[in-house]
Amino acid sequence: MRTFLSRLGLLFLLAGAPACAVQEALAPTPTGAATEHTAMVAAANPHAVEAGLDALRNGGNAMDAAIAVQTVLSLVEPQSSGLGGGAFMLYRDAATGEITVYDGRERAPMAADETLWLDEEGEPLPFLTAWTSGRAVGVPGVIAMLAMAHEDHGARDWAENFTFAERLAEDGFAISPRLHSLILRAQQIGPIEDLPASGAYFFDENGNAFPVGHVLANPDYAESLRLIAADWRNFYEGPLAAEIVAAVGAGDVPGAMTLDDLAAYTPVRRAAICRDYRGYDVCSAPPPASGGIALNQILGLLEPYDMAATGPETEEGWRRFIEASRLAYADRDAYVAAPEAMTVTPGALLDEDYIAARAALIDRDTAIPHVPAGEPDIPGTSHFVIVDAHGNVVSMTATVEFLFGSNRMAGGFFLNNQMTDFNFDPRDEDGRLHPNAPGSGKVPRSSMSPTIILDGEGEFYMGVGSPGGSSIIAYVAKTIVGVIDWGLTPQAAIELPNVVARGDVVRVEETYPAELLEALADKGFQLDANRSENSGLHAIRRLDDGTLDGGADPRREGVVGQLE
Ligand code: GLU
Repeated sequence: MRTFLSRLGLLFLLAGAPACAVQEALAPTPTGAATEHTAMVAAANPHAVEAGLDALRNGGNAMDAAIAVQTVLSLVEPQSSGLGGGAFMLYRDAATGEITVYDGRERAPMAADETLWLDEEGEPLPFLTAWTSGRAVGVPGVIAMLAMAHEDHGARDWAENFTFAERLAEDGFAISPRLHSLILRAQQIGPIEDLPASGAYFFDENGNAFPVGHVLANPDYAESLRLIAADWRNFYEGPLAAEIVAAVGAGDVPGAMTLDDLAAYTPVRRAAICRDYRGYDVCSAPPPASGGIALNQILGLLEPYDMAATGPETEEGWRRFIEASRLAYADRDAYVAAPEAMTVTPGALLDEDYIAARAALIDRDTAIPHVPAGEPDIPGTSHFVIVDAHGNVVSMTATVEFLFGSNRMAGGFFLNNQMTDFNFDPRDEDGRLHPNAPGSGKVPRSSMSPTIILDGEGEFYMGVGSPGGSSIIAYVAKTIVGVIDWGLTPQAAIELPNVVARGDVVRVEETYPAELLEALADKGFQLDANRSENSGLHAIRRLDDGTLDGGADPRREGVVGQLE
């Protein structure tokens, strides 16, 4: 019998990795110029934060800093995001007040169809087989997306944004505790040591992973950065593209990506999904990302309830949060997919009457026994936040999907396994195609929820987001409720225990108070307690006096850095 370990199961395995809380304060650096706002970067790694600050000090704005941050994350946090992956970015332009979503989601090769994840017998492949297969790799979108966004909003030359990462790749960086522990995990469960590129990169000749503190240089990555800095199209055409196609086509279960697939990749500008929550405008990413819909559903479902009066120390507040999450996840799982494949519109899922009717389901004292998707009217994994001195804001979540993506490397970076975000089983028992079934040139649903919140005057209030697969939505919703309803600082809200209520079992992080657990169990909730939760929340909030207040998740290695 085939052993099937789901991605979620694997995440739990990984959650055992030590949470390295590096809440170090970066030395403030004077800008030399008086600014209305301070500038701030909150990201998952101190090198990445420093790269962002360096860009801001040297003629770059938030958009330029985002490129500097992402190119460094790809090097120092390759398990999570990188040039071989995809991303969603929300950008708020200070001059116009407009928010634009840049969608750099990976696309399936044209040769893919709904059988992508089925074996010869028509059975879904086990996740472990799929994860590192060539079929898992979608056409990477990060570079094309950053190029489009930079074209719209960058302040300094595209190429300048690559120099920090290029230098770090040449000089090398010290392997962090978290990276080291995740290399070991990947070695336990996958082929990372046996694949030629990653094997040579992370392991010595005896097969031992390089230790924490080992200085790892990546000249191939530096070379890729030089090519892309010269012209972003060099990622999608020419020798680098050929290297990507070769890596996808190699080994077991190869993928069908072609040079044409790469050359055809186009990112998409989209409108954010925004909804009012207690006087704040909460804007997040639209389909194929599910964050904008699910996050706003959770908040909409909570709105009739006085959450401020039932704080994080109360069973009642958490109970409502849990039920709102369960209801929103049920709809997300059933309906959200690539925009053209959705059978229900985002508008129907966020319709006020529909949300009010769903919210009424929460008006009870004990757990809802089972939460199916609703029936709306049918007409139709690293996150960072940057605020620059002008007030421009980037809130961006980028991903290679699972641990080191497909583990396949090209040009010194890891290629994603994003195609595993499609439903493996394309049809239900009645033969109906699921909106999130794989398809030719199609993008899989994402849970990424890069969010920008505006205050009642339409001014920037907070940027927030997280990695964490489908749990992203719950992590981000908790942080927003923590800040807006429970009056916490972003840091305190991030540190609240994560509670993920998707389906009938509610996952509760190990830091959750025992008496609240007991109270929730008494109300009939099925709890899966003492979980480690791998959120990587980063947030920046603007205070009334215009200064910024940032938070970095102690569950990862992130920091907040600012220019004074
Ligand atoms: N692949 C996931 C998504 O796009 C994100 C993966 C993660 O956060 O670990 O929804």
